[in-house]
Amino acid sequence: MQVIILGPPGVGKGTQSLLISQKLGLIHLSTGEILRSAADAKTTLGLQAKEIMNLGKLVSDDIMVGIVRDALSGQEMNEKGFILDGFPRTLNQAVALDKIFSEFGFNDVRIVNIIADDEVLIKRLMGRGRQDDTLETVTNRLRVYREQTAPVREYYSKEYPVHDINGVGDIDIINDGIVDVLKNIRSKV
Ligand code: AMP
Repeated sequence: MQVIILGPPGVGKGTQSLLISQKLGLIHLSTGEILRSAADAKTTLGLQAKEIMNLGKLVSDDIMVGIVRDALSGQEMNEKGFILDGFPRTLNQAVALDKIFSEFGFNDVRIVNIIADDEVLIKRLMGRGRQDDTLETVTNRLRVYREQTAPVREYYSKEYPVHDINGVGDIDIINDGIVDVLKNIRSKV
């Protein structure tokens, strides 16, 4: 199974993806985590990415598609399946991912979209204490989400049943709901 978790920053994609990966035995692939590790390791990519992340902007599509393509090419991804958290974040990334999926023969794709109001997201993001969680960065990230990432849901919904799931409430109850939906999504639209 190949899972894509969509949703705005702060909605709980990371937390939910981790739980889903544990329950369904999938590999959790978070592009934000990959970039943060690169930043900690002070690689050239990491240092560039850190600046962009701290501004609440998106790292370029070329770089992100390259990272994801690399990560998905391992045999383990094919055997175990995976959950993509934080990718795709633009229409270009979604189109590139389609190509990667058909090239690698990934054809059991299941997509959920977690949702919450902006007030909830801002409150959560401001409470996390991550370096890219200042008010200015948070506001920017939500704007970038609306402009560039929200259209990805519409793009997918032409081809896949995309389920919207309320991301406010008890983490485990939300997770049970997501896992239930993932298990029961059967086919393309
Ligand atoms: P996240 O941990 O998913 O909230 O990502 C943190 C930051 O990493 C984002 O605000 C972006 O700056 C960058 N990032 C993560 N994933 C992507 C992506 N798919 N495309 C562009 N930038 C990304």
